[in-house]
Amino acid sequence: MIRYILFDLDETLYPATSGLMPAIGERMRIYLQERYHLDAEHAHALQKRYFNQYGTTLRGLMLEQKIDPQDYLGFVHDVDVAQFIHPDARLREVLGSIPFEKVIVTNADAPHAERVLARLSVADEFEQIFDIVFMQFECKPARGAYERVLEKLGVRGDECILVEDMARNLPAARELGIRTILLMDPRTADQTGAWFLDPAAEARSRECPSDANMCIKEIYEVADTIQKLANAPVRTSK
Ligand SMILES: [Mg+2]
Repeated sequence: MIRYILFDLDETLYPATSGLMPAIGERMRIYLQERYHLDAEHAHALQKRYFNQYGTTLRGLMLEQKIDPQDYLGFVHDVDVAQFIHPDARLREVLGSIPFEKVIVTNADAPHAERVLARLSVADEFEQIFDIVFMQFECKPARGAYERVLEKLGVRGDECILVEDMARNLPAARELGIRTILLMDPRTADQTGAWFLDPAAEARSRECPSDANMCIKEIYEVADTIQKLANAPVRTSK
């Protein structure tokens, strides 16, 4: 029986076309440039390498540079979210119709998540926020990130559904028995200019990957899809 829906935050609850994540990516690049006296090109390359190798730029910085994570998180999330996203009454209605508890599981920090949820006008729809600090910086796609969340909620993986926009975050969840819904926004399938490289970005535009139980094209489909998945017989991964 499903008890919790684990929602990713960024580019799941609002469209990737909003420009918010590129703005945060730009802050990350500036951070690297200023702290390590790099030019823009080298900072961007380092940022991408960390993201692809460690899951987040921050994880790479912590492991290779021993930085203060709070200093970094404060700096990179210092953007005015109101410039990029707006109250979303339709999203609020969709979330409100989901008959399960909802929580946020994000690689960002809680203050950013709170600002985003407040701006979208959906903050009260979520019972808890599990952020990168809660994960002790072992962020998605690491299996430990999901294990910590399940332990804290006191549930098994098969009592949860994950809603995500990044295919690379699905396999570890599926290993734990969590059912998965992947948001495959056709408008953002071609992200050749994106600030990071999602290894699954190319596949996004074509077909629903095997690690996703179901795929949706926009977040507004999520309530109906959760209902279908919650009622469906459990299909185990691999
Ligand atoms: Mg996301």
